[in-house]
Amino acid sequence: MIPPIASRFVAGETPAEAIQHADDLNDRDVKAILNLLGEHYHERPPADDDARQYRDLVRDIADTDVDACVSVKPSQIGLDVGVDVFRENLESIVEAADDHGVFTWVDMEDHETTDATLDAFEDFARKYEGDVGVCIQANLKRTEDDLERLADVPGKVRLVKGAYDEPGDIAYSRKERVNEAYRDYLEYMFEAFDDGVAVGSHDPAMIEYAADLHDEYGTDYEVQMLMGVREDAQTELAADGVETWQYVPYGGKWFSYFYRRAMERKENLLFAVRAVVGR
Ligand code: FAD
Repeated sequence: MIPPIASRFVAGETPAEAIQHADDLNDRDVKAILNLLGEHYHERPPADDDARQYRDLVRDIADTDVDACVSVKPSQIGLDVGVDVFRENLESIVEAADDHGVFTWVDMEDHETTDATLDAFEDFARKYEGDVGVCIQANLKRTEDDLERLADVPGKVRLVKGAYDEPGDIAYSRKERVNEAYRDYLEYMFEAFDDGVAVGSHDPAMIEYAADLHDEYGTDYEVQMLMGVREDAQTELAADGVETWQYVPYGGKWFSYFYRRAMERKENLLFAVRAVVGR
């Protein structure tokens, strides 16, 4: 069992706990993006095992009828072992998900993985007719070209600011510059993407801007936020009729994820410290 201190950000260790969390979210009209925690496997067995767990998870989602999809990291299903392993495992998940009417997201990791991730996404999005989505990072300078390429591919794109420390020649590092890029890309997506836009951000300014762009272009959109971050805003958005998804991590490897969340903001750290000292 995960300790109560981590349960703000992680749904539990088992798929059953993740599905129960999804069911609770559905009660407040928020949908769930389930993510089995794990990354950077350098050998095949753990990568194959996580791919198997995702295939089981999409069956559980279909059997329990919760409004949920899955999101998977390339290095979790074999990209660090080899591109072929990653593609084989990703296709096995997408195929199983497609059979069960469940959507598959592919998370984006650091810039060395971008080409392999986008190539696999494009192939499977075409083959499985749009039942796949990919994440794109506003901090990378290449993103303008990548979005032009993706505009013609069926499937969805989640725009995020970018979570990885990238070299200065290929990425923006100043917060203001990343925000400016995020706005520009968001506008391009509302203009050029037929399959809708996924806004992966907690930033009230970006969410408001997405609502304005929706009014201007009429393109469908959804907002995606992490479990434990601006939960009230998630409920309010859903109540206002905005399609709202919560990214829900679960699994035995919860500690490093919880540590990252706790350390990234002073408020989160205080929350963690208070939980430990019981005040
Ligand atoms: P920030 O620039 O961090 O913050 C802007 C404003 O948002 C703040 O001023 C505040 O008003 C509000 N805010 C932010 N955090 C909090 C908080 N904890 N509590 C209260 N208010 C807050 N990155 C990747 O590189 N690859 C991925 O595949 C990926 N997938 C993601 C999926 C989802 C659903 C989400 C939400 C993020 C994902 N990210 C991913 C992370 C992303 O790149 C950013 O690092 C992260 O979302 C922080 O940026 P932000 O847009 O939320 O806003």
